[in-house]
Order: sequence, then structure tokens, then C-alpha cells
Amino acid sequence: MLLLMVWAVMAAVIWRGIEALEWSIPESVIEPAPPVTELHPTVLAKKNELVAETRKIGITIMITDGFRSHEEQNIIYEQGRTAIGQIVTNARGGESYHNYGLAIDFALRLADGSVIWDLEHDGNGNGKSDWMEVVGIAKGLGFTWGGDWDRFPDYPHLQMDFGYSIRELQRGKRPSVDEQADS
Ligand SMILES: [Zn+2]
Repeated sequence: MLLLMVWAVMAAVIWRGIEALEWSIPESVIEPAPPVTELHPTVLAKKNELVAETRKIGITIMITDGFRSHEEQNIIYEQGRTAIGQIVTNARGGESYHNYGLAIDFALRLADGSVIWDLEHDGNGNGKSDWMEVVGIAKGLGFTWGGDWDRFPDYPHLQMDFGYSIRELQRGKRPSVDEQADS
């Protein structure tokens, strides 16, 4: 009987301890995530591979965008809304994979130095669209393509989400730096 009472008191003490611990978690564990300021190392490596692999088949690409700060994202969000120009994005700061260093945009660069966003162009003359050849190689490297999105397809856009939703990223979740592409 005494043993049982001792046990009950101890259990109560331990339970309180657990409760206290849980209450303290929001401050100690859910810290604001360190700000992202550059491309994720895997995205950066795969971006470089994409440039090299496409060059081998006679296509020169230009990476027009990579990491974007929240401020930069908000500026392009206003384009076509409160600022002049055409609408180029539906994502505000924090709502784009670019803001977490997980996306790049590309365009085709021609021999004369001009940059084009032409999905039909066949500069290497192999009867296939250069744009779609780039997309095919990018997918092989583990990127998903914005052109596959039913709502607001984004043809220059390539990203690696590593299984994280924008909502999770907004809450401070981050893929680890050694996360690998799932190609
Ligand atoms: Zn993009």
C-alpha cells in the first residue's frame, strides 16, 4: 500500500514534469528558422549540372532567377497590380519556393547573346524543342517543372521541394543542407 502511494506521488511528479516540459517547448524548440539567403546546396549543384548537361547538346541556358528575398518577391508581386507591367507571379513574399532557395528560372540564350522564352525554338536543329529538352534534363536531375502546373503554368520555373509545402516552409521547417534530389 505504501509502495503504491509512493508510486502514485512519483507518477504525479513525473507527469507534472512532462507537462512543464511541453509548455516550455514553444520557446526552446520552435525558434524562428534562420533566414534563407541563397540556393540550397543541392539545388545549386543541380543547377550547375543542368547548365553543363544542356550545353553538351548544344543548348545554352541562362539562369534568370534563383534565390529571391521576401522583399524582392513582394516587388515582383506588385508588378501588374500596383506597379506597371504584366503580372508575373501570384506569390507574395514567403509564398514562393524561390524565397527558400529551392527554385530557379531559366531562359534560352542564343549565339547573338539574346535571351528568349520561346517554347518552340530548335536552336540545335535536332527536331526537338530546346525548351522541352532542357525541361527533360531538369526532371532527370530531380527538378519539378512549373509548366506542369494546371493552374498558372510557369514555364521557366524549376524547383525542388524535398517534400516540404510552402506552408511548412513558412512555419520555419527547412530541408537539411545535405538533402538529396529524388531523381
Ligand atoms: Zn520561378
